[in-house]
Order: sequence, then C-alpha cells, then structure tokens
Amino acid sequence: MKKSTAYLCAALLFPIPVLAASSSASSGKADWQLAEETEVWSPVPPIVTTSENKAPSDAIVLFDGKSLDQWQAADGGEAKWNVFNGTLVVAPKTGDIKTKESFCDVQLHVEWMTPTKITDANGKPLESQARNNSGIFLQEKYEVQVLDSYQNKTYSNGQAGSIYKQSIPLANASRAPGVWQTYDIIFNAPKFEQEKLVTPGYVTVLHNGVLVQNHFEIQGATAWIGKPSYAAHGCAPLRLQDHGNPVSFRNIWIRKL
Ligand code: MG
Repeated sequence: MKKSTAYLCAALLFPIPVLAASSSASSGKADWQLAEETEVWSPVPPIVTTSENKAPSDAIVLFDGKSLDQWQAADGGEAKWNVFNGTLVVAPKTGDIKTKESFCDVQLHVEWMTPTKITDANGKPLESQARNNSGIFLQEKYEVQVLDSYQNKTYSNGQAGSIYKQSIPLANASRAPGVWQTYDIIFNAPKFEQEKLVTPGYVTVLHNGVLVQNHFEIQGATAWIGKPSYAAHGCAPLRLQDHGNPVSFRNIWIRKL
C-alpha cells in the first residue's frame, strides 16, 4: 500500500476529533474555552437520597403508618381518626384533622384509597359527591378533591383531581375503589402584603403519575357555595377532610420548597 493511501485509510477508520483543536474566529478562544463560559459549578444541589416507597431523605414524614404525632383535630384537640394496618382512616363525624406544623410552598405526596363498599347502610348506591369523599386542603383553604371518581359521574370541577369548584382535572386517572392511589402536589402558596394579594397560589397535581393540574392559578379559598376569594394569611397547616366516609391514607410526606 502506498503511504498516501495508508494515511487515507487510517483517517477514515480513526477520525480525529477536530473540535478540540478548532477556535472561534471572532474570540480567538478554543471551543472548549467557550463551552466552559456557560458552565455553572456553584451552588451544588444538596444531596437527597431516595428509595422506592419511602419518603425522600429531606422530607417531613407526616404519616408513617404508625402514629398521629404530626396531627391534631381541626379545632386544635386530639386527632381522632383511626390508625391500623399502617393506614390512617377517616373516623366519620369526628371532624377534619390538620398538621401541627404550618407550611408555605411545598411538594406533597399522599396515598389514598376509597372503600370498596359503594352503597349506604340501606344498600342504596353512593353516587356523585356521596361516593367516598375526602379532600386535601393546602394551607387549610385550597382543596384538592379526594373522591371515588371511578365510574362515578359528578360535576367535573368536583371529581378526583379537581381543585374543588375551581379547576377540572386534565384527565380522570382514577383507580377502582379499594386500590391505592397517589397524589403528588406542588404548591406555591399565595403571597400577601398586609391584606393585599400580591401573588396568587399555584398548584400542580399528578394523580397516579398523570398530570391533572398544570400550574393552575388558585382563585381563592375553596367555597362550596359561591365564588372563591382570597383572605390574607401566612403559612398554615395541611388539613384532611372528614366528609363522613372512611377513606384511607398512607405514606404522607412533605418537602418545604
Ligand atoms: Mg372533598
């Protein structure tokens, strides 16, 4: 083989990267130098360790399957819901419960399950909002609806995954009664200066991994009757609703943002 042919073959087989040797005509810098100019090395994100079905290492565990230590009744007394088999179950007519701690911007993970029994004591089917209802009230005021919305017609802005009476979920990702479901919620709390609203709240919700609320602008405190409106407040507890049905919860954790 001629020497020139040998060089050509080598060049085809082992192409030499030319990027490192090139330079920008205008700056006189090599590409790698230009690339370095847009690298940001500080701050370094904190390490958060995770493992399947466990709270991230920097989360506050609000319910670990055992105790109600993090909770109290909505009126400030002792939380009266039931804990058994690693689950927290609404004790109907005992009232809502709320966290002892207050929160502002958060990432929240909640697992919940509605009962398989979908009839009342007289055997009459539970329908619409009566079909095993609960709710997650961010800052005690803004409800992400919990409801058995599996083959259960109700008003769209009141079904599971809705921001109650404010925003219809983008999809119905509901699983059947008796099957655990997940909510992953990112909440940016509203900001006030004295009594004035400066920035509304925003909420993003994934229901069983499906995006159902995409950075929705919260219209105000949840209202059953009439339009929602804001009243100034600071950081506030997370509240779970007793709507008279034995809905179950487990693996509740929250990260302050
Ligand atoms: Mg509700």
